[in-house]
Amino acid sequence: MNLKIMIVEDESALVTMLRYNLEKEGFMVFDARDGKTALDIINEKKPDMLLLDWMLPEMSGVELCQQLRKNQETAEIPIIMLTARGEEGDKIRGLEMGADDYMTKPFSVPELLARIHALLRRTKPVESKGELVFEDIVMDLNAHRVTRKGRYVHLGPTEFRLLQHLMKNPSCVYSREDLLNAVWGEDIHVELRTVDVHIRRLRKALNSDEDKDVIRTVRAAGYALESFEEETEKLKHDG
Ligand code: CA
Repeated sequence: MNLKIMIVEDESALVTMLRYNLEKEGFMVFDARDGKTALDIINEKKPDMLLLDWMLPEMSGVELCQQLRKNQETAEIPIIMLTARGEEGDKIRGLEMGADDYMTKPFSVPELLARIHALLRRTKPVESKGELVFEDIVMDLNAHRVTRKGRYVHLGPTEFRLLQHLMKNPSCVYSREDLLNAVWGEDIHVELRTVDVHIRRLRKALNSDEDKDVIRTVRAAGYALESFEEETEKLKHDG
């Protein structure tokens, strides 16, 4: 499935130019000319990345950015801010408001594409395609979806990456630092308790009432996946 990029920009000529180049690159492209329309489309289409203009009618890029970060569903969408202003303060403010990167207009398309790919690599590392399976959980790396007992599990990008990392080496116990480095990247500063927040979200998404919790908290060490094969075996023998 093609990755989806959303352009939020009120300059039509720039949208046309960006759309042309992004589609040529293989992305599926959506666009909006103001922040409010953008919000609706983002909620519906769940884009993988946002190119967000700073100066927009109705709702500014910064406001939109803040709104997206506040909503759990959209909090993790990577955002590249497009700004016509070159001032250092605005760029920093944009990053503080939740943007991941910025480009100052006018920018070169090859540079923008390079930054898009770099950000996607950071947030969605390319894996060897296929499936990861652990117990009754199946992660389809091509479709980027997870099912448990055939039931679709909705995961945010960070929870997906966490689970992916855990599923790659199910017998490993990972410290919070290990998970931070693997999922967020070593050059990004994130507090350790952020890992706990995302593990909590991951558990909540994976475990319905009758499902066993497959994530084990290892005191003073971190997290690991918990196999319940032994228990099942035991039950079989007992029964
Ligand atoms: Ca503008």
